[in-house]
Amino acid sequence: MHELSVAQNIIEIVEENARKLKLKIISEVEIDVGTISGVVPENLEFAMDVAMKDTILENAKIKMNIIKAKAKCLKCANEFEIEEMYSLCPKCNRFEFEIINGKELKVKSIKAE
Ligand SMILES: [Zn+2]
Repeated sequence: MHELSVAQNIIEIVEENARKLKLKIISEVEIDVGTISGVVPENLEFAMDVAMKDTILENAKIKMNIIKAKAKCLKCANEFEIEEMYSLCPKCNRFEFEIINGKELKVKSIKAE
């Protein structure tokens, strides 16, 4: 499962920060997950649960901020929400846009006890 390596990566980032800040127990981790980041939030939650065992995150609460993907049409400058990478501009029906957000996959904040 792809999400498991993502979860392990997240845990490594948190552990590294915890070491720098001399934190012993992490109580909460906030993660930004974009809707086109390639990660399924439910799967990531499950993977985090498994991967956090026996780490300083063992009892941490995982808070996920789902960030809806947004794109800007290169033809008419219309900004619209997209569900997946292959969407058309609802205004002019073109398939030429740049992604504004939605690819996020990062640790936003950590809280320690
Ligand atoms: Zn357009």
